Amino acid sequence: MSLKGKTAIVTGSNSGIGLGVARELARAGAAVVLNSFTDRDEDHKLAEDMGREFGVDVRYIKADMSKGDECRALIEQAGACDILVNNAGIQHVAPIDEFPVETWDRIIAINMNSAFHCTAAALPLMRQAGWGRVVNIASAHGLTASPYKSAYVSAKHGVVGMTKVVALETAKEQITCNAICPGYVLTPLVEAQIPDTAKEYNMTEEEVVEQVILQRQPSKEFATVEQIGGTAVFLCSDAAAQITGTTISVDGGWTAL
Ligand code: NAD
Repeated sequence: MSLKGKTAIVTGSNSGIGLGVARELARAGAAVVLNSFTDRDEDHKLAEDMGREFGVDVRYIKADMSKGDECRALIEQAGACDILVNNAGIQHVAPIDEFPVETWDRIIAINMNSAFHCTAAALPLMRQAGWGRVVNIASAHGLTASPYKSAYVSAKHGVVGMTKVVALETAKEQITCNAICPGYVLTPLVEAQIPDTAKEYNMTEEEVVEQVILQRQPSKEFATVEQIGGTAVFLCSDAAAQITGTTISVDGGWTAL
């Protein structure tokens, strides 16, 4: 599968799944735009090293995905967008009656609204090119729920709904829009919620991994960022040209339960 000649923008891609997806797209030959809200030397070095490793053009563009205008500016600044991966996301774990309002707003903005802004800005470029792929990184929590994750589950269900709408609006074009729904992948986002979950359930952190996190995943294994990246590359392939408006779970059987 060659994505040579295509430009991919991956939001929230200096870490975790976004970085893994960006690496697989670069491996497949796409030029890649990495993004996060920071503008550190190491962000630009990450892009430089990835470009050298895969022999493709890789740039890093700073844009805060909690702000609609910066989402749109990211796409504009990139100049081309054949593949858009809406990946940026954060998490917070708390009972709904104690959920901080500002944190709710931030999760909805970064995890859901950014996908709206980036997609809205990217579609004209895809239409101009006559080809496009929108890949939303949703979650098993876009299809099912867990306690204490009201904002995250709401945002991810919203992204799955938006995926279907974008697919219908582009159905007659060479553009598809799908959502990947990962189960647990061991990234900084998951590592960060282990202490809070331990507090909620009154458990040790080891017990949380075994009895709470992987308890939901029948395979008893974390999915890997390479597997999520490989799924994104598949969705960009010709074999997936008629796959649109749907979800692909990469969750070790979680949502089959
Ligand atoms: P992560 O914390 O490793 O990565 C999140 C990325 O988003 C980072 O690159 C971070 O810099 C970026 N980001 C955060 N706030 C941002 C902002 N305001 N503007 C721009 N970028 C921002 O987490 P991850 O686990 O790799 O999560 C990536 C996506 O995958 C998220 O949407 C998450 O909901 C989803 N997901 C993760 C898992 C999992 O188990 N790790 C499972 C299902 C879905």
